[in-house]
Amino acid sequence: MVADLAAQGTVVEVVQGLRTFAEQDALYAKGRTTPGAIVTQARGGESNHNFGLAVDLCPFTSDKPDWNAPMAVWAAIGASAAAQGLEWGGQWKKFLDKPHVQLPAMTVKECARRYQAGGLDAVWAAASQKIGWTEALSAAPRLVQKRRTGRKAASRKTRGRKGAARRVRARRRR
Ligand SMILES: [Zn+2]
Repeated sequence: MVADLAAQGTVVEVVQGLRTFAEQDALYAKGRTTPGAIVTQARGGESNHNFGLAVDLCPFTSDKPDWNAPMAVWAAIGASAAAQGLEWGGQWKKFLDKPHVQLPAMTVKECARRYQAGGLDAVWAAASQKIGWTEALSAAPRLVQKRRTGRKAASRKTRGRKGAARRVRARRRR
């Protein structure tokens, strides 16, 4: 998607990929029990991000994320997502989520069930099978559960973003 959009003159970057349940809960609190605007309707375990099946993309202008980009730019992201067989949050009726793109593989309920049974590997194996990928999402991000503070946590997040970007690129090749 990133390369596809770049070819059309729209620079986008993956700004978020895998999120832990705790990170999701913190995000859910925004605009409810902590300051800021509401940014999600999903608690920990209720978002495709928690299972490594979603990324958020943002248009970039002069190397800076442009969250206020014109609707036409977001629509181009949506069109590119659709062309790759991905679901775009900009089409959601209940909660418009323009940066959000996800694999249409499974409901979060099913993700949660498989996660309970076998962790992220089980989720990715099932998702890969559902969308017809022969190789599992082996490049998918891994959660590092130990030492989740400071730089370690940051590097884990970076890996998550890179993994998600790789998956988007991998998808594009198909
Ligand atoms: Zn998202």
